[in-house]
Amino acid sequence: MDNRILLRMCRMSGHEMRFISEAFEGEWVVPLGPNVTGFEKDLEAFLGEDRHVVALSSGTAALHLGLIGLGVKEGDEVMVQSMTFSASVNPVRYVGAVPVMVDSEPDSWNIDPVLLDSAISDRVRITGKKPKAIVVVCLYGMPVDYDRILKVAEKWDIPILEDAAEAFGSSFNGRKCGTFGRYGVLSFNGNKMITTSGGGALVCPDEEAARKTMYYATQARLGYAYYQHEEIGYNYRMSNISAGIGRGQMMVAEEYIAHHRHRQEYYRDHLREVDGISLHENPDYRFDSNFWLCTALIDPAMKVKNQENAYSSAVTSTVGGAGGVTGQGSSIHTDCEPNSNVEALRLGLASAGIETRPLWKPMHRQPVFSKYPAYVNGTAESLFHRGLCLPSGPYVTDKDADRVIDSIKNLLV
Ligand SMILES: *Cc1c(COP(=O)(O)O)cnc(C)c1O
Repeated sequence: MDNRILLRMCRMSGHEMRFISEAFEGEWVVPLGPNVTGFEKDLEAFLGEDRHVVALSSGTAALHLGLIGLGVKEGDEVMVQSMTFSASVNPVRYVGAVPVMVDSEPDSWNIDPVLLDSAISDRVRITGKKPKAIVVVCLYGMPVDYDRILKVAEKWDIPILEDAAEAFGSSFNGRKCGTFGRYGVLSFNGNKMITTSGGGALVCPDEEAARKTMYYATQARLGYAYYQHEEIGYNYRMSNISAGIGRGQMMVAEEYIAHHRHRQEYYRDHLREVDGISLHENPDYRFDSNFWLCTALIDPAMKVKNQENAYSSAVTSTVGGAGGVTGQGSSIHTDCEPNSNVEALRLGLASAGIETRPLWKPMHRQPVFSKYPAYVNGTAESLFHRGLCLPSGPYVTDKDADRVIDSIKNLLV
């Protein structure tokens, strides 16, 4: 029997097949149909705030169409949170714009409002024009401090594109993440809070914006019998089959979100008295994270069993894991690695059959983005050096968590 505990697996609710069968029976095996409309309605009801949701083929596609919706064009600058997954930044390049990376604040781990304000000031001074958009990310489900970020955005009159791909069900001041920006992005990839096997959605401010989004998502064709095209379009609509999975997942979404929150709290309670590890917490009452991944910070001064071997294997595994970065030598990543404690803990847990993962490597330290401007305060790198994601998700039981906790206690000496 395989008794490994994996980082995060999605789980079907059992209701998905009903919606998929309906799609088959009605011959709706196409990228539109009743499940797509039904799933969009479910999402709108879930999010509230009178938003219009357009279901798409991925969260990345949603980011791309969000930037197009904000009118971001070649040569424009876009402020982006550096502490994130690459999908938040890649679409900025799809539209030919320049990403300007901004570091995080230590409590929420998300974009630092003070640094953002001064970075925008600096961009205006250097380029003579304002950045076109601000991409903020609710990292691992933790909301951005919107009280402060919205003030900066208002002051400069720059719209926000909210990447809530990891924050399905999170809220700030009682309002759901995904509804704070002009546009918001959701993801239903296989590892996210709910899945459509692969998919995403763009949360739009009004009907006109939703209509425009659908137009770009369906090859920008105009309503002539022969299809007239006056702009470049994309094939980004969600399929009716995927949306059927989404409708089934919506029936258990609240349960999954509660399970994730319980998991983080359980780890926190049971590791509270253990020196050297601390679980991420909501910074104050305004924040209500879904704790999509259970994240922890490891004290750099800790001793971990196995530590001697960790550093060399960290280097090897990163080079291997980079999947064929060639011609640049193997030393390019070693200046920005998780520290040896974290790596020793990760490897120790891996030998106990427990999968964990370092935090996202900040975008300003990624070779692909290193040539773009970055405003850095050290927070993202420090989090990356010290952070670890522990197993979470609907399959990880309290008993599994006990095994994770015991193994951590065992390894932190
Ligand atoms: C997963 C993710 C995305 C992209 O979503 P896909 O549906 O996988 O394209 C974007 N941003 C963040 C922060 C993510 O974690």
